[in-house]
Amino acid sequence: MTCQEAERMITPYINNWLSDEELEQFLLHIKSCENCREELEIYFTVDYGIRQLDDEIGVYNIREAMEESLEAAWDRIKYIHVLTILKYVFRTLSVLWLTITLILQMRIWWQEGFFLK
Ligand SMILES: [Zn+2]
Repeated sequence: MTCQEAERMITPYINNWLSDEELEQFLLHIKSCENCREELEIYFTVDYGIRQLDDEIGVYNIREAMEESLEAAWDRIKYIHVLTILKYVFRTLSVLWLTITLILQMRIWWQEGFFLK
């Protein structure tokens, strides 16, 4: 992902509009690119400032809030990865189960002489 692409994703990121795939790409870029990270911090500060005015939450450490947001986003990505792995595991298991069932059924048919007729 280029910096330009990442910068275009900052607002969607803050508003939770990114797809899981986009989110992962964005997080990876933010992790490795200091410039975009700073850019995100600026947007985050502005956004947070506006919301703070609305909600009157009081003084809060914005950098910490951003770190928490990034951590939560990473957690979501990790969760999705686990789900994907589980999906593959279950799919493999059901294929395996089907194969075994079929083999057992063939054995029963073979024992009953089904194939000899
Ligand atoms: Zn960048």
